[in-house]
Amino acid sequence: MKPAIIVDYNRAKGAVDLSDQMAEYQTPLRKTLKWYKKIAFDLILNVAMVNALVLYKTVTNKHIAIVDLRKEILKSFLAKSSTSEAPLERTIRKKHVLQKKEGPSLKVRRMCVLCYKNNVSIFGRALARNKTKKVPTFCDTCIDKPFLCVECFTNVHV
Ligand SMILES: [Zn+2]
Ligand SMILES: [Zn+2]
Repeated sequence: MKPAIIVDYNRAKGAVDLSDQMAEYQTPLRKTLKWYKKIAFDLILNVAMVNALVLYKTVTNKHIAIVDLRKEILKSFLAKSSTSEAPLERTIRKKHVLQKKEGPSLKVRRMCVLCYKNNVSIFGRALARNKTKKVPTFCDTCIDKPFLCVECFTNVHV
């Protein structure tokens, strides 16, 4: 016949003990930190991690070691921060795709505009036309949808 408050306390304490126990298996805290910093970091690093772990298990119904979950979370943080540092480069790389002229106009081939430019500078305008290979590939994302060989496409887009 325990009073309800004791039952509740024990139940809650049990959860806290479990949290401590789970966090204890693996902690990134250094032994030299001041105790109040330890508490702050413990809240951020360990309690939050244990909460995340419990959520992860509840939602996915899968088991994951706390150290692995920590790594996964760190990875996602790192991925996000590198995206925000170079957003332009990433959008260019993502958006521009070399496409092939296909369908009824199957035989559409044109000079790679960059090879042509390059050949003009080497051989002059009169000869460049014969020297330049014709390709079926073009960049659909560039404003003037230029025909490009794979090599030149890669050079200007990556
Ligand atoms: Zn080219
Ligand atoms: Zn492009």
